[in-house]
Amino acid sequence: MAFHQVLASEKLLDRVAKRFDPRQSLRARLGLTICSIALVMAIMASITVSATASDRVKTDAGIALEQLAYQVSDKLDRGMFERYREIQNLTELDLLSNPNSPRSQKRSLLDRLQSTYPTYSWIGLTDATGKVLVSTGKLLENLSVARRPWFQNARTQAAVGDVHEAMLLAKLLPNPTNEPLRFIDISAPVTDSAGQYAGVLGAHLSWTWAKEIRDSLLQPLQNRSQVEVFIFSASGKVLLAPIELQERIPSLPSLQTLQQQGNGYALETWSDGDLYLTGFARSTGYRNYPGLGWTVVVRQQADLALASVRTLQRQIFTQDLTLGILFAIAGWFIMRRLTYPLLAIATAADRLRQGNANTELPLITSSDEIGRLSRSLKHLVRTLFEQQQQLNLSNEQLQIQLTERQHAAAEIQQLNATLEQKVSDRTAQLQDINQELEAFAYSVSHDLRAPLRTIQGFAQALKEDYSDRLDDLGNEYLQSITADAVQMDRLITELLAYSQLTRTKITLQPVALMATIESACKQLEMDLQEKQAEITVTTPLPTVLAHSPTLTQAIANLLSNALKFIKPESRPQVEIKYQLAQRDRQQWVRLWIIDNGIGIASSDTERIFRIFERLHGIETYPGTGIGLAIVRKSIERMGGCVGVESQLGQGSRFWIELPLYEGAGSRE
Ligand code: ADP
Repeated sequence: MAFHQVLASEKLLDRVAKRFDPRQSLRARLGLTICSIALVMAIMASITVSATASDRVKTDAGIALEQLAYQVSDKLDRGMFERYREIQNLTELDLLSNPNSPRSQKRSLLDRLQSTYPTYSWIGLTDATGKVLVSTGKLLENLSVARRPWFQNARTQAAVGDVHEAMLLAKLLPNPTNEPLRFIDISAPVTDSAGQYAGVLGAHLSWTWAKEIRDSLLQPLQNRSQVEVFIFSASGKVLLAPIELQERIPSLPSLQTLQQQGNGYALETWSDGDLYLTGFARSTGYRNYPGLGWTVVVRQQADLALASVRTLQRQIFTQDLTLGILFAIAGWFIMRRLTYPLLAIATAADRLRQGNANTELPLITSSDEIGRLSRSLKHLVRTLFEQQQQLNLSNEQLQIQLTERQHAAAEIQQLNATLEQKVSDRTAQLQDINQELEAFAYSVSHDLRAPLRTIQGFAQALKEDYSDRLDDLGNEYLQSITADAVQMDRLITELLAYSQLTRTKITLQPVALMATIESACKQLEMDLQEKQAEITVTTPLPTVLAHSPTLTQAIANLLSNALKFIKPESRPQVEIKYQLAQRDRQQWVRLWIIDNGIGIASSDTERIFRIFERLHGIETYPGTGIGLAIVRKSIERMGGCVGVESQLGQGSRFWIELPLYEGAGSRE
């Protein structure tokens, strides 16, 4: 076989296996389920029906056997009654009761009776002493039977003796079967004409009679069902049994119970170990025949007796099984009809999944659930398809937007770079200009100083040498020149100090704040005394990292302002304290200089640190507007910062902040 043929057959096998594999095929699963349900129902139905049916059949078969036993028993009783009455009737015949009747006539009567009813084995008439007068076939004539029970029991009334083996007659009677001869005795007293007991008429009924009765009843049944009949005497002795069992007569365990019950049936295991359905009936006699208390037992092997039950069970099971299989086949085809559209949908869905976009989901037009599923799936696929198209469109748009954004970002980056370059260029330019300006301010201030000194010198000389020759107005002019020259000198000095700050090399060192404040106060000593200012310092004060002369100048400027910007006639009170703060992994000292002055509007607290910014006229509070600019520049050059908190009329709280020096001896 070629390789591709092997492959094709393997695929086919795989498909068939999948179709019949319940784990992979809904059809196989449902087919199996229906089949299993049908089978279980078949088994349950056959169990239920057969249980009911077998009970009924058992009852019927049991009753049939019980009836058969009853019939045997009844027939025996009726037969016995007839013989019993026959013998009694004979005793009333004058021929037999009259002692003078000829013996030959008597014998001939008895012989006739025997020939009419051959089961009489022997009939004989005795005298009152028990001597046989006449008998059938002259057997035992003139012999005494006075000791025989049948004679003794019948002297006063009719008697029936149970089955027994032949004694005297055993050797006299013909016995073709060689079976032991067994008799039932029937006897009745004979009375003479005066009514006196004159002898006994006795008859031995051959036990074969019972066999004949049995056979006549069993004959119609014998061919189809092996029914066996037993007759038990009142004492439990087996009187009749099938020939093959005569040697080993089975004993029925419940015989006594059966005998007590009367008629009935039972399913019972006999001594041979087999199970038999057993019917039984108890002989109760007939009319004036009292009966001998026999029990007739009819048994049939349970298998045979209940064969119809098994046949019925088999039939029910076969029928149910056939029905089950038919259901399963029908289920298989119904499932095929049901699952075919599902399979078609699944195949189309698979193709769609593999990217075959042209595949159409089959539309099932039925109005059932599968039709609904098909319509819903078709709708779903269409919606998904449309959504996917929209998504693709959005994706493309997003892609375009992304590209545009990337271009824009690149442009922004480019612009940023240019901007940064421009800013740094401008900053450098500004710094250059600033430096140039500061250098210019410095040189101008410096250069202004010499002519100013000359002006001041000549103004002084003029005042000293010519003031007496000048009138008041001239002196006033001279005064103005002197004052403005002083103001200008102050301005130049401070401007120079401000410009100097840029040039001064600042190296930070531990600076004790207390010492710095003391030296600042020393600079302002005259002013302090004049204004009777009170300065309170919270000690000890820490040591900071600073440039000592620059810090002294800054604190002096702040203290000077605190003494200056005060209401007229007020006494300046200045409090100096500090607090620590943690920032940028560094401890900072904030030194507060708090005055009781005129205060500053909160809108002005920022601008007063700019150079030449003043809030008051020079006549009210003299100054240059450079002091605070020097403070800010000084502190910033030392790496710190400054600020003020104030409100008009509430005093001002100026502060400077510098790094704490944490080395040894940092507190004073
Ligand atoms: P000035 O030479 O005028 O003192 P400053 O630069 O030292 O110049 O101060 C700028 C302005 O800030 C001052 O003119 C004043 O209006 C205001 N100022 C400074 N310190 C105080 C203060 N302690 N109380 C009120 N106002 C102040």
